[in-house]
Amino acid sequence: MTHVRRLLIALLAGVALFVTGVPAAEKLRVVTTIPDLKSLAEAVGGDLVEVESLTRGTQNFHEAEVRPSMMLKLRRADVLIENGLDLDSWVDVAILGANNPRIIRGALGLIDVSRDIPVLEVPSGRVDRSMGDVHPLGNPHFSLDPGLAPLITRTILEGFARLAPDHRASFERNRQTFLTRLDGEMARWTKALEPFKGAKIVVFHPDFIYFVTRFGLVQAGTVEDKPGIPPSPQHLVRLIRQMKDEKIKVILVEPWNDVKLANRVAQEAGARAIVFASAVGAVKGADNYIAAIDFNVKILAEALR
Ligand SMILES: [Zn+2]
Repeated sequence: MTHVRRLLIALLAGVALFVTGVPAAEKLRVVTTIPDLKSLAEAVGGDLVEVESLTRGTQNFHEAEVRPSMMLKLRRADVLIENGLDLDSWVDVAILGANNPRIIRGALGLIDVSRDIPVLEVPSGRVDRSMGDVHPLGNPHFSLDPGLAPLITRTILEGFARLAPDHRASFERNRQTFLTRLDGEMARWTKALEPFKGAKIVVFHPDFIYFVTRFGLVQAGTVEDKPGIPPSPQHLVRLIRQMKDEKIKVILVEPWNDVKLANRVAQEAGARAIVFASAVGAVKGADNYIAAIDFNVKILAEALR
């Protein structure tokens, strides 16, 4: 090989690297704000990505604390996938600290999966954040609605393909494999919850509305007065009366909620409080996307029987 040719090849490789942002042979380093998105990013990226989550499923995502370890992860990242709708707005502080131009606002490497989501529970009036309401832009807990996974994975796919266009076909194949499997599970889940269409449930924090709506159940009340706000005694009295009147059997609780309080309310109302997989990794056995949804379908079908 002549020197000129060698130089030309090196130059072309350099240009390719510049255009795609990532050398073709290397994996995309992906960071997600929550573990549900890690699981979905892995489903799309397969062995072309390496994914880390900034939080664990046992955490309250609204209140995640930005740590130096988060900034270190973000400093090395090619891609950051965020939930959006204010669930993980703390990540902005981590982005600032990471000083990585690949994932700042406006960069190709920042993917907001809420972009195309039909948002539920958008407040009609002005939301007073000083009151503590943590859902000012509508309900941000859409990630574990299996009916929205096609949309979320499409947004992730488009983001990955922008950064590594050579791998678009692989990403599409991976996503299709995942969606085919999800379709099969979805048929099973729908059948399992079919007998309970119209059944009312109460949740501690309103993070199940997308799931509940998907399967034809009804969220009749919440233990929290407003999202993120501890309940007043009057609210609890009303809720217990309503649960008795409407024969509501289940309160769904997240692992970090006041489980004792949920149990007390349930007991007074003649119902059961159940800890559900509010995220991937929130409870034992819910260690990937499909497993988490499967856990929730089973626990609900059992409790409503
Ligand atoms: Zn919330």
